[in-house]
Amino acid sequence: MHDGFGRILAAGRGRADLIDAVTAQAFDLFERNVAIQTEGLPVLACHKGCPACCCIRVVASAPEIFLLATYVQRVHASPGGAALDLPGRIARADRVVRGLGEQQRMAAQCVCPFILKGICIIHPVRPLACRGLASFDKSACEDAAAGRPVEVPLSEPHAFMRSMVQNALQSALRAQGYAWRGYELNHALLLALTKEEGQAEWCGGGDPLAAALVADTDWQAVAVTFDDVLGAPRPS
Ligand code: SF4
Repeated sequence: MHDGFGRILAAGRGRADLIDAVTAQAFDLFERNVAIQTEGLPVLACHKGCPACCCIRVVASAPEIFLLATYVQRVHASPGGAALDLPGRIARADRVVRGLGEQQRMAAQCVCPFILKGICIIHPVRPLACRGLASFDKSACEDAAAGRPVEVPLSEPHAFMRSMVQNALQSALRAQGYAWRGYELNHALLLALTKEEGQAEWCGGGDPLAAALVADTDWQAVAVTFDDVLGAPRPS
C-alpha cells in the first residue's frame, strides 16, 4: 500500500487531480479490503442515517481535508447550498471543541457539523477515521455517546483496515516530502477553507494545516515506526 500510494503521489506531483487520485485510492483500498475481511460477519448497525457516534474527534490526513474542503465549497456554490451554511456550521463546531481532549469532547456532545436531519451529508467523502469506526449495536453506541459505561461491539476488520490504509498513506506522504501527520477535522477544514493558497502550499511541501495538528500523538514516534517497518535509514 505504501508503494502504491508513493507511485500515485510521484506521478501526480504538481497536478490538479492529485488529491482526488490519492483519496480515491485510499477509500477504494479500504472499502475493497473491508468487504473481503468482513465476509460472514453479522450485518453492521451503521448506515448513512445513523449519527450515534458522530460527536467523537475525527483525525484526518491533509489529502482527506482538502478533498472535503473542495466538496464543502461545491455544496456551498450549488443551488440552495448556501442555505446549509456548511462553513458556518464548521466554524461553530470548531469554537465548541477546539483544544478539548477526547473525554471533554464527548461531554460537550457537539455533533459533527455534517450531520443534517440525522444524516451525514458528506458520506461519499467521509474520512477514513469515520469509515473505520463500525459497530454491531446501535444502542450500545448511543449509550457510549451519552457517557454511560458500555462495551461497544466494534468491527475489528474496519478498525484494522482504517489503521493500515491510513498508515500506508501517511508513510507514503512522508516519503514523498508532503506534510503527513494527522489533523483535527473541524479546525483543519476551517484552515483549508480560509487559506486560499493552502492546497498549493501543501503540494509544495508546506504544512498550511499545522495549527490543527493533533497534539496528543507522538508524531516523532510514528515516524520512527514507519522507518522501522520500511527498513529506511534513520536521519542522523
Ligand atoms: S464526517 Fe460524517 S461520518 Fe464522520 S463524524 Fe461527521 S457526520 Fe459522522
